[in-house]
Amino acid sequence: MAVLPALKYPHPTLRAKCTAVLETNEEIRRIINDMTETMYASPSCVGIAAPQVGYPLRMFVMDVSRKIGQKKNHGLLALINPVLVYSEGEKITREGCLSIPDFLGNVKRARRVIVKGLNPEGWEVEILSTGLEAIAMQHELDHLDGVLFIHRVSSLGTDLVRRKNPLDNILP
Ligand SMILES: [Zn+2]
Repeated sequence: MAVLPALKYPHPTLRAKCTAVLETNEEIRRIINDMTETMYASPSCVGIAAPQVGYPLRMFVMDVSRKIGQKKNHGLLALINPVLVYSEGEKITREGCLSIPDFLGNVKRARRVIVKGLNPEGWEVEILSTGLEAIAMQHELDHLDGVLFIHRVSSLGTDLVRRKNPLDNILP
């Protein structure tokens, strides 16, 4: 396992539309382990998508229990070829990102989502997420299509703020 350097915006890999993982093999599981270690090594980071560490592949890891304890979340999740199959409600939250360390942004997201995908063993899973986990899921899914939170703020003038405290609100 290794801690990988996180790419910073505007690195082109962060804008790539990532490709599907064709086989959940040892190599994929090694990358997922490195992403997990990298996430836990970054203070208050609750998730990382593969393109953020240089792999334009459709997979991410997340663990919002770091921020909100055990309530209403699944703890550590690793999802491969994830697809959003359901979303409802709306909520505006202030988001940050490891790849955009100097800014936070107000982003409108769904309150509840259902995401289908494969786990690292290749089994199909379906995850119902609410609250912070639902927001992190949508933030991660965006990364797989080269979309970052700055592309989701309704006004760069009013919805983007410079981060004061490095530990402020880091989301994936
Ligand atoms: Zn991010």
